[in-house]
Amino acid sequence: MKALRFYAPEDVRVEEVPEPECGPDEVKLKVRNCSTCGTDVKILHNGHQNLTPPRITGHEIAGEVVEVGADVASTYGASWSVGDRAQVIAAVPCGECYECRKGWMAVCQNQTSVGYQYDGGFAEYMIVPRQVLAVDGLNRIPDGVGFAEASAAEPLACAINAQELLGIEEGDTVVVFGAGPIGCMHIRLARGVHGAGPVYLVDVNADRLAMSADAVHPDEVIDGSQVDVVERVLELTGGRGADVVITATAANVTQEQAIAMAARNGRISFFGGLPKTNPTITCDSNVVHYRQLHIHGANGSAPEHNKRALDYIASGQVPVADLITEHVPLERVLDAFAIVEKGAAIKVTVEP
Ligand SMILES: [Zn+2]
Ligand SMILES: [Zn+2]
Repeated sequence: MKALRFYAPEDVRVEEVPEPECGPDEVKLKVRNCSTCGTDVKILHNGHQNLTPPRITGHEIAGEVVEVGADVASTYGASWSVGDRAQVIAAVPCGECYECRKGWMAVCQNQTSVGYQYDGGFAEYMIVPRQVLAVDGLNRIPDGVGFAEASAAEPLACAINAQELLGIEEGDTVVVFGAGPIGCMHIRLARGVHGAGPVYLVDVNADRLAMSADAVHPDEVIDGSQVDVVERVLELTGGRGADVVITATAANVTQEQAIAMAARNGRISFFGGLPKTNPTITCDSNVVHYRQLHIHGANGSAPEHNKRALDYIASGQVPVADLITEHVPLERVLDAFAIVEKGAAIKVTVEP
């Protein structure tokens, strides 16, 4: 079968590899969609410490069951059949550590990932690892939800995990930094599920801002390369600041701006990680103190967030179909990465 394999930074190859075999406690999928995100581009350039080459990458996966191991039903109590449509979690918790037992599976200390420790979805077929099945991480795709949409459940799950901590209330003013696909999903989730009020979208790339604004219609777009973002948000909120700020970018300055623009009792999500080589920011601690700010991290998602993501997509509370603006065949997966890197599409999906 054809697959994309990572060998080393800047050395990834679309090549013929043996079709994987399904063990008695595994499920085999025909991959129908594997969507791309900034992480794939980061891996291409820098690799990842948890990634053992050669490795098939790709972690936003939806496909069709083509084989079910004989022991799957008895081992996991899950009844999968050939032809079932399924979505795969990306972050795989162990289910047994202190955090997992507390129900904090997104911060499992033994977390592994599809496409890092296990072969992922940039391939015609993949084996759903037993570690995924053990934590109920293979999800049925609801009727009416396509494979491409289902592949976007994984990034949406990460947004759900982050917003769960933010206590967004009806009418709250929300600022989202980062006009990528995840920023769009944050906006739709904040409105469609949490009833957010005015939503402002910030980016420094005018083309990307325009493209994403066209899809999700924020109440205002703010081009950080043209105006003082903090000043503008204070202006828009009558000097009060934003109730909720989400930084879906890797730019350090956005975290500092988030703190500066947060309203009293404001909630902030540092959703995007910062560069490993430059992970610090300057924080006026007294602003956090006196304004009673709540600053939250966000680390991937738990299996349950993936299920909820599929439900929100199915119910129409968080539509994603129109956010997938490019479909490319597996042979052109490297073009997909280039499109993501340029920010020339909202979401790019690969179709093996
Ligand atoms: Zn991703
Ligand atoms: Zn764990």
